[in-house]
Amino acid sequence: MNAAAPLPTVASAELFARAHAVTPGGVNSPVRAFNAVGGTPRFIASARGAWLTDVDGNEYVDLICSWGPMLLGHAHPEVVAAVTEAAARGTSYGTPTQAEVELAEEIVGRTPVDSVRLVSSGTEATMSAIRLARGFTGRDLVVKFAGCYHGHVDSLLAAAGSGLATFSVPGTPGVPEDFTAHTLVLPYNDRTAVEATFAEHGDRIACLITEAAPGNMGLVPPEDGFNRFLAETCARHGALFVSDEVMTGFRVTRTGRWGLDGAVEGWRPDLMTFGKVMGGGFPAAAFGGRADVMAHLAPQGAVYQAGTLSGNPVAATAGLTTLRLATDDVYAHLDKVSLAIREAASAALAEAGVPHVVQHDGTMFSVFFTEDDGPTRVRDFADASRQRTDRYGAFFHAMLDHGVHLPPSTFEAWFVSAAHDDRAVDRVLSALPAAARAAAAAGGAE
Ligand SMILES: *Cc1c(COP(=O)(O)O)cnc(C)c1O
Repeated sequence: MNAAAPLPTVASAELFARAHAVTPGGVNSPVRAFNAVGGTPRFIASARGAWLTDVDGNEYVDLICSWGPMLLGHAHPEVVAAVTEAAARGTSYGTPTQAEVELAEEIVGRTPVDSVRLVSSGTEATMSAIRLARGFTGRDLVVKFAGCYHGHVDSLLAAAGSGLATFSVPGTPGVPEDFTAHTLVLPYNDRTAVEATFAEHGDRIACLITEAAPGNMGLVPPEDGFNRFLAETCARHGALFVSDEVMTGFRVTRTGRWGLDGAVEGWRPDLMTFGKVMGGGFPAAAFGGRADVMAHLAPQGAVYQAGTLSGNPVAATAGLTTLRLATDDVYAHLDKVSLAIREAASAALAEAGVPHVVQHDGTMFSVFFTEDDGPTRVRDFADASRQRTDRYGAFFHAMLDHGVHLPPSTFEAWFVSAAHDDRAVDRVLSALPAAARAAAAAGGAE
């Protein structure tokens, strides 16, 4: 089989040129640019179920799913109806509404948090959780892991994953050194490093924040018992354990990543952050946790936090409707689709002789295009960094030309939805062999 002919991209290219004139890099979030894979981003005109349609009329199976939120697929009829109805009743009042109470109840019902504060983005959620942890403990230091991304919070932009890893930017200009001086960065899955850090600084550490299962350097599952070890280490030193479930929450399982360890082992984080799925494709996020910690938040307590559009009634309705539709059946389907795609991807790459590692955690997964002498298991950011981005670029574009839209970076998870039916999965499976051969052709040993 020959490589598919390139799809028409005239209208996308025109829009990208116009975007460049009025927006830095032509995009409103760096990962959307194709800098890591080359070429022009596709401008999407509409989407339905598992499919995207770009402004040139090309159709793609969507394996980005808005970087996680679209758990039910695009334009789910019940979500669209609920949102339309909510919008017709007014889009923002600056006063409390029933929708935000019900969304909070849904989150508290699924997770171990006692209460939540709604915000508009995952960045706000982690920023606020850290402020609360510092206010509660009266301490300054924050511990994070290299390759974990917690949004673009100043103090957390040290060795972050996602866009920063893609662009190999160590931290970022614009953040004063004394801000990150309060941030300690450790290798993921490394208990010895955690123990040594707490032994030395334990009484000054406000919190340790981690992705519940890191998905922003590719998917790197926590080793058995690692999250529990972190929770116990924090507790021993009077620090708070902040589990960032912005990506994993209501995606990895019905109860989020906590459903795979905390719920089984009988512990809970002190604070948690949520976003993506809980907004149903709208800007909504949250942080929550232990009642005694959350009580320190204004107006109940002294730690200030606020937001004009927090708990926005349209966003809250989208999130609530999405979560109510996210039943056990949805997660069973996601598991099945995720398994089919990752097995087929691995088989195609093996057949073409392309070194790779496929990792998953619940329904989330990713494919690492490892170096020829690379690791057989990716357990931290150093491992994840050793990838053949040239091979991924060739693979990505071959998939795109076959009508499958992957994340334009090999440092990202692949996302599926309840709407990924046999037709969508078949499109992915039939595109894989040629894409794997394109990756093989992109270069032998470096
Ligand atoms: C996406 C993400 C964030 C940031 O959320 P935004 O809504 O993009 O600000 C924070 N933490 C994790 C783990 C994420 O995946």
